[in-house]
Amino acid sequence: MRAGLYIHFPFCLKKCLYCDFNSAPLAGGDVDGYVESLLREMELRGAALAEEVTAPTLYFGGGTPSLMGPELVGRVIDEAAKRFHLEADAEVTLEANPGTLTPQRLSGYRAAGVNRLSLGFQSFEERLLQRLGRVHTVREALDAFDQARRAGFDNIGIDLMHSLPEQTLSQWREALAQGIALAPEHVSAYALSVEEGTPFSRLYQDDALPLPGEEEGALMFEATHELLTDGGYLHYEISNFARPGRFSRHNGSYWRRESYLGFGAGAHSFRNADGLGRRWKNACDPGEYRDSIAAGAIPEQDVELLTLEEAVSESFFLGLRVLSGLDLAPLLARYGKEALERQLAEVARLEREGMLVREGSSVRLAPRAVIVANSIFSRFL
Ligand code: SF4
Repeated sequence: MRAGLYIHFPFCLKKCLYCDFNSAPLAGGDVDGYVESLLREMELRGAALAEEVTAPTLYFGGGTPSLMGPELVGRVIDEAAKRFHLEADAEVTLEANPGTLTPQRLSGYRAAGVNRLSLGFQSFEERLLQRLGRVHTVREALDAFDQARRAGFDNIGIDLMHSLPEQTLSQWREALAQGIALAPEHVSAYALSVEEGTPFSRLYQDDALPLPGEEEGALMFEATHELLTDGGYLHYEISNFARPGRFSRHNGSYWRRESYLGFGAGAHSFRNADGLGRRWKNACDPGEYRDSIAAGAIPEQDVELLTLEEAVSESFFLGLRVLSGLDLAPLLARYGKEALERQLAEVARLEREGMLVREGSSVRLAPRAVIVANSIFSRFL
């Protein structure tokens, strides 16, 4: 089986005000103990699998995985190589919060085998970073980028957010220009989404979160495409841009419905051995996760065996995220025309509406459809 590997690190220095990821403040968290659990889980999973795994990618996400020192990250990479045949040219990504990095740490990650960094810049404005509850300053983010280059990283992505409180279109254009000036290999640009249960959600309900309006948000989305493509980046997924050849290989496997194994508290996994697929996730609570692993059991939850209908729907709404298009030929070969009937009828309707474009056996979102992609994906559910 070929499968990407995902490692979840569920701690951060403090919780950002908009965040609903599975992360908790580090205070009191036992980083070394958590990594021991990760290593043990890899051992347990390796022993439980009836087949050999080859891993083309390894992704450290969180949380803030850069709170793990290089030595711990190196141990996880070594374990992945030992148990899951991490390929020699594997993409090994570490999500890093600029407030946690030093030149020594960055050199250590590089030496340990990390070859791609994803830096959470989010904004080039101090005021907005504070508003978001980020732990780092603009200066720290810029220094981290510079130090990462000096440490030898030639594949760096930055994350930026728009539609932030009181942010204007011209401020967002300026942020994009600053991001492009750094010349990262990859840019992820997301609109802020107000998630239930976060402090931002409470502010929003109290009318105390002055977000840009829908029209302004749409203009920001359009500006993102315009400035980044003018800057030489390929718009390859709804929110992701990259220099040619620098797409995220790991994330690409999610959109192609390829297998991935997740390790750590709350990590999701997907095994697609039969074209349908089995999904599960680990217990989210780090304490529950640790105790279960210590007892020799992987705490799998929410196990889901996908039906043919679900697998076909997913193939469309995940595959169409990739803007170069979804090739229908392999889907027809795998599932047969009858199983795809409803989705093919929807494709034909969307083509007539000018939202999808067909090229040979592929179909892709029309440029005007990218901004309303979610409403299009919902038609394949
Ligand atoms: S650093 Fe990332 S994961 Fe951690 S609280 Fe902030 S947004 Fe959430």
